[in-house]
Amino acid sequence: MIQIAVLSGKGGTGKTVVTGALAELLPGKKVFADCDVEAANLALLLSPRERSRIPFFGMKKAMIEKESCVACGLCAHACRFGAIRAGTNGLFSVDPVRCEGCGVCAGVCPERAIVLRENQDGEIILADTDLGPLVYAELKPGSGNSGLLVHEVKKAAHREVRGQDLVLIDGPPGIGCPVISTMSGIHIAVIVTEPGIAAMHDLKRLVTVSRGFSLSLCAIINRADLHEGYAQAIGRFCADEEIPLLGKVPFDPTVQAAVRKGVPVTRFGCPATAALRDIAANLAEILGEKASDRLKGRNE
Ligand code: SF4
Ligand code: SF4
Repeated sequence: MIQIAVLSGKGGTGKTVVTGALAELLPGKKVFADCDVEAANLALLLSPRERSRIPFFGMKKAMIEKESCVACGLCAHACRFGAIRAGTNGLFSVDPVRCEGCGVCAGVCPERAIVLRENQDGEIILADTDLGPLVYAELKPGSGNSGLLVHEVKKAAHREVRGQDLVLIDGPPGIGCPVISTMSGIHIAVIVTEPGIAAMHDLKRLVTVSRGFSLSLCAIINRADLHEGYAQAIGRFCADEEIPLLGKVPFDPTVQAAVRKGVPVTRFGCPATAALRDIAANLAEILGEKASDRLKGRNE
């Protein structure tokens, strides 16, 4: 089993569009995982048929047992996250959105009136698509621990692997905890970037972070024709870092039309699809010569 994650240094670079295209174009059996748990939208392109849901419990939250509380205020004073406040009635309560589950309040409460309880932060959804099983998640608004949820989504995706030779992950943007969790254990990170100063800066940060992991990097420049100068600069950066550039996708209004229809852009014959076919062939070449031959044969 090979695991590939499609990542980007920042949001909005077209990472999910690329993942949806690779879902269609890469050969072999595949399992898909959407690890962009705070904005999971790969499902919007793959028309999933939901099979089951698994509750996700993140960090515990503090709760005050009102009958034991003597309203001394020690807990509110000790909470560094400002999660405990007195109401107009003088009773103290915990704001679950602010609570980080550190347990300090429970430790300082002289009445042992505070308990830490399990809290459901979201759900992991197991689904089938025409291209293979899909695992994604829904995180409740204000819930944290998305890195742990990413880990759980990947674990659930691994359980879906039955002889499939590829796990394709739509990763989160940025370089935070969910990205670190996504990178852990994967074999190839495909970084989607675009020609612009912010994207280039974020690309460099992501490459720096990824060097701490044992994985291969490759890159795609999306909407590459919007600024030839930056596209060339990204190409030079990739060459210097020995990161294979899989290809450049031109700006193409068909991409947005496909997203609005809820299908991968590869269902349409357009310049973006042509570029993505070459990119998938180049990636398949990295995955193995045999797979690449099959794909190129299909493209002719
Ligand atoms: S568990 Fe930590 S963050 Fe939550 S209310 Fe108690 S002290 Fe504050
Ligand atoms: S420390 Fe305990 S007794 Fe004091 S206000 Fe907090 S919950 Fe109530």
